[in-house]
Amino acid sequence: MTVSSTAVAPVIAYVGLGSNLASPDEQLDSALRALMALPDTRVVRTSSRYRTAPIGYADQPDFINAVAALETAIPMRALLDHLLRIEREHGRVREIPNGPRTLDLDLLLYGDERYEGPGLTVPHPRMHERAFVMVPLAEIAPRLELIGYGNAAELAKALAAEQGISMLGR
Ligand code: ADP
Ligand code: MG
Repeated sequence: MTVSSTAVAPVIAYVGLGSNLASPDEQLDSALRALMALPDTRVVRTSSRYRTAPIGYADQPDFINAVAALETAIPMRALLDHLLRIEREHGRVREIPNGPRTLDLDLLLYGDERYEGPGLTVPHPRMHERAFVMVPLAEIAPRLELIGYGNAAELAKALAAEQGISMLGR
């Protein structure tokens, strides 16, 4: 179900993509096509793909992650609903917390807005502590400042050293 929505003035929103099941690279290709097909939206940048070891629940394949920047006029909550719909269309079933998933789409940032409500927190509350989010984000937006956590590129560098992450060839 998608919340009906009136377009707002366009903002830049950042979406984190991740997959570790069923051909992760193809999941990300397909998810990006779905983002490109969203109404009132342009995908303006996409990061390289990165590989990271799973956190939390370790007995599962490595993750492939990327970040996309969207210029969108879709309101924040309706955008999240689109992301959850795209996850479902890719066969996502929520079973184990931090467990394997065919596709995870997170709304990282929506312009410079801050929001906390049922089922949605923006900026994404854990983004600043995850190399697999911050490294691809910093690749496409190195000068971004995360309020309370500092510069994206510096944060990414520290997290990469601490957690390990490898850039893939695309
Ligand atoms: P994670 O991405 O942290 O591994 P899940 O994808 O399993 O967690 O959980 C996503 C849930 O978190 C969704 O049901 C959604 O309602 C909620 N949520 C809250 N804030 C956000 C956000 N900024 N982006 C995506 N999901 C969010
Ligand atoms: Mg998620």
